[in-house]
Formats: sequence, C-alpha cells, structure tokens
Amino acid sequence: MPKKVETIVLHDSSTPVIGDMEKGGNVVVTSLEYLLAQARANSLWPLTFGLACCAIEMMSTVASRFDLARFGSEAFRATPRQADVMIIAGRLSKKMAPVLRQIYDQMPEPKWVISMGACASSGGVYNNYAIVQGADQVVPVDVYVPGCPPSPDALIYGILKLQEKVKRHKATTFGELRLAEAFNPRGLEEVDV
Ligand code: SF4
Repeated sequence: MPKKVETIVLHDSSTPVIGDMEKGGNVVVTSLEYLLAQARANSLWPLTFGLACCAIEMMSTVASRFDLARFGSEAFRATPRQADVMIIAGRLSKKMAPVLRQIYDQMPEPKWVISMGACASSGGVYNNYAIVQGADQVVPVDVYVPGCPPSPDALIYGILKLQEKVKRHKATTFGELRLAEAFNPRGLEEVDV
C-alpha cells in the first residue's frame, strides 16, 4: 500500500470536472488507511492515570509552558471509553496492578501505552515486594520514557515517537475494518490489511 500523497492540480480546460469540484482546484490522492492513521496519530487522547510524582510532570505537559495541545493530545480523559493512550505515570504497586489491567481492558481498540519514568518502566529505586518491576508485566507497553522524573519535554518526545508508531498501524480488528468500510463505498474487499 503506497504511503505517498499525490497532489494533482487541474489547470487545463479540457480536464474533466471531478464531482462538484470546480476546474482549477486541487485533488489529493492517497489511501484511506493513510488518512485514518494520520487522524489517529494527531489526536491521541490520553487516559488520566497518575500514580506518583511523575504525574506532576505529566500534568505540566498540558499547561501553557509546554502546551501539549500543539500535538493534539491535550484532551486527558477520566474514562477509558474515551481514551486511546494510557500514560502510566509513576510506580505501579502490586495492589494497583489488577486495576490498571482492568482499565486497560476497558479501552477501545486500537490502544497504546506509554510507560513514564523509571518506576513505571522498571520499578526504579523501589526494588521491593510491593512494587511491580515494570508495567510491561501487566500491560503491553509501546513507548518507554526514561528519567526520574522525566521532564514534560521528554514525555512530549515520547508522544511524538508514539505518533510515528501509530502512523504505521494497520487495521487488524473487525471494528477497524467496519470503520474503513463505512468510508469506502466500494466495500470491505478494497481494504488492504
Ligand atoms: S520515576 Fe522518580 S519521579 Fe517518577 S514516580 Fe518514580 S520516583 Fe517518582
């Protein structure tokens, strides 16, 4: 499936009119999958999941100094139904692990996870019986942001890396295929998976 976007400028009076478009307008030709991936990557909605001190840095990313809204991810949601990226900000206790897993399961597909900070990624300095030694023991992690705590800039960089990954995402679930079909009048068989 080509990822390239082609722009065609209609400049010739002999060029046929496409749909309702007037002659002289621009036409962009690309794949539906490319468009969906661009829309998803540039409007990631994080789930509010602050667990410890890293959460303060996470909150700073949406304030005016760092302004995460520039990258389309400022809409933190308090419900997993409306979120597509879980940011695990802080140490994950063994008591909290089943709760984290349940909330992750309640997020709709496709979904992604960012592990923010040393504690979430590896237990950090808390190598003891109470702390999970890496959130990837509980949920699949897509991006690890190092630091104790990582700065808001570091988290934003992690979100940008996740955007790159989301742009490479291909439709795999039934729900995604139905969504693609809804935008594709030629039917499901045209969707390349
Ligand atoms: S990595 Fe550092 S700042 Fe983040 S939760 Fe652990 S101790 Fe706190």
